[in-house]
Amino acid sequence: MENVIKIQDRFWIIDEGGVRSFLFEGTKNAMLIDTGFGSLPIKNITEELTDKEVFLVNTHTDKDHTGCNKDFKTIYMHPSEMEHYKNALPKGCSMKNVLPLWEKDVIDLGYWKFEVILTPGHTPGSIMLLERDKRMLISGDTVQDGDIFMFGAGRNIDAFMRSIEKIISMSDMFDTIWPSHGSCPIEKDIVPDILCGAKDLLAGKLEEQEPPWQMPCKKYVCDAAGFLYDGDIQ
Ligand SMILES: [Zn+2]
Repeated sequence: MENVIKIQDRFWIIDEGGVRSFLFEGTKNAMLIDTGFGSLPIKNITEELTDKEVFLVNTHTDKDHTGCNKDFKTIYMHPSEMEHYKNALPKGCSMKNVLPLWEKDVIDLGYWKFEVILTPGHTPGSIMLLERDKRMLISGDTVQDGDIFMFGAGRNIDAFMRSIEKIISMSDMFDTIWPSHGSCPIEKDIVPDILCGAKDLLAGKLEEQEPPWQMPCKKYVCDAAGFLYDGDIQ
């Protein structure tokens, strides 16, 4: 399977090109994190990789993460994300299958144990998942070295910066960061650099560029990442 990268026992990346999902197999069950744009048969892929029952966790509900949500019976997300999800419900999906995951909830698969960290800003209910023993952080779109979408409904740059500060305060708890876009894995030194970049963005210190596709925003690049942003700049 050319889109599947085995990172270690019980841990795979499913790479759609442009966005990736993560599959963790525990001793009890297995967790898929996000489902991509929907061009890959992710449910079938997970069934080939593990015989454990797979449940789905959405780091957030932008379209590039929910493409195959319809194939999963149980879909967890933070409650702050549910309105965003409901308003543009992916085809074939129902709110009946959606269950809440709250800040500090622990997802114990056996072998893997992830803690939910609420990191609003990119979307209202964006979460990260922290594996304290394995010292890994699954960061969604909030910490990455690609373009961070910060334009359109539900984005909030101030909340984003608070979330980055929160992750900086937790940085003694993890070594590697596994984002949905850009390079993967990335080192944790990127986190303070993203905060500096966001501050520079708001201070008007980053050069305004045209976005990579036709989008109602401008692109601003700092040393760590890009921001696709349409908000106020001082
Ligand atoms: Zn994304």
